[in-house]
Amino acid sequence: MAEPVDYDCLACGACCHGLDVLLDNADQDRFERRPDLLRKTREYWCGQTVLFMRRDDRHDRCVALEVTPGCWKCTIYDERPQLCRDFEAGSEDCRTARRARGLPV
Ligand code: SF4
Repeated sequence: MAEPVDYDCLACGACCHGLDVLLDNADQDRFERRPDLLRKTREYWCGQTVLFMRRDDRHDRCVALEVTPGCWKCTIYDERPQLCRDFEAGSEDCRTARRARGLPV
């Protein structure tokens, strides 16, 4: 029987790769009051300004993700965008992201 998978977000980070994380209006207001958070975003104009988390294109991941051996840590976890909060560990999207990173599901 296969070992149960531990969906530990701090040992994964799969969903922080390969995606554009859009900030909703509440996130945007919150980030705009915090220069340290705002620096981690990029603007996009589509009739109005919208913000996305900036990406480290070299590694195809969110700039807020800190990577050390065996640990994938969101450095703004308590302030992370709503889209990240809504992403459920163990969900189908989570498992799809893990498969794409070669992690067990
Ligand atoms: S803000 Fe945090 S949880 Fe969201 S994609 Fe970036 S590193 Fe991951």
